[in-house]
Amino acid sequence: MFVRFFMGTAVFEIGSALLGACVGSFLNVVIWRLPQEDPARRTLGGRSHCPGCGKMISWHDNVPVLGWLMLRGKARCCATTISPRYPFVELLTAVLFYALAAWPPFGPVFADGAIATQAQVPDLVPGALVPEALAAFVASLVFVSMLVALTFIDFDTQLLPDVLTKPGMVIGLIAGTWPGVAGVISDDSLVSVELRSVMASAVGLLVGGGVTWGIRALGSVVFKKEAMGFGDVKLMAMIGAFVGWKGSLLTLFLGCVFGAIVGVSLALRSGLSARIPFGPYLAMGALVALFGQKTLLTLLFVDWPEWQRRHPSSMLLVLFIGIGALLSLLWLIRRGRR
Ligand SMILES: [Zn+2]
Repeated sequence: MFVRFFMGTAVFEIGSALLGACVGSFLNVVIWRLPQEDPARRTLGGRSHCPGCGKMISWHDNVPVLGWLMLRGKARCCATTISPRYPFVELLTAVLFYALAAWPPFGPVFADGAIATQAQVPDLVPGALVPEALAAFVASLVFVSMLVALTFIDFDTQLLPDVLTKPGMVIGLIAGTWPGVAGVISDDSLVSVELRSVMASAVGLLVGGGVTWGIRALGSVVFKKEAMGFGDVKLMAMIGAFVGWKGSLLTLFLGCVFGAIVGVSLALRSGLSARIPFGPYLAMGALVALFGQKTLLTLLFVDWPEWQRRHPSSMLLVLFIGIGALLSLLWLIRRGRR
């Protein structure tokens, strides 16, 4: 009962943002330490030390966002500049956690798989609903944290570590047992809603990973060279396990659009030597798919075809733009991956 009244309140939303800032602080540690070659430096335990002089950082200088602001971006011990990326990651995670609390994308579901709106919630079985809503909320926090960590590790190293993507797939599948996370696969009411929803998660994993693997293989044939890393395939499998197959295709589409926009503008600005990691754009696509899946799918598959029917010649243009974007993206990625 407590959880029921607590979720959806301002205290819950602000508390989520504060939790996000602390998790963001931890993600900074993950982003910095996970890709380290030396196993002793790869551990996530222990206190933080100054990267400049090695001195231990006191807890009050380590307070998310505020610590950096009070120090004005310079280490207390040796005045080494602290990258504004640290408070940025903390702020970003706080904003994302707040958004998940304020507009939870993984709503509770009815037995037929339809996601309930806030107004319909009182009609649901109370005992079954509340733990599911909370569990789905926790799953969404984990998912978003993984995306933040992977984004910045990919920017830094052009790699998406298995230590994150593989457990991510498993967590996505486990989270999928709660209806409303990846959606529900069929309307067959003979099979329990939990089974149908974990199937939706598994199908999402296979479609997300499979389609990306297909694009990677196609790219290899076209360019006679590896177009995408296998890390991107595993990342997409993880994303699919969380957002289902429709969400994973939407993610891939959005990731291509974002990647092509940023990639082409980078190539125009800094010449053709710009390296383009794909992971951050897939993560961005996944976030948009997470919050706006329903709206965007309606726009793409209901409103858009309606407009198409009234303007038949626009189909060729769309096809041309789509193929052009995919090819320019593959061309850019080919130069980014080792
Ligand atoms: Zn120092």
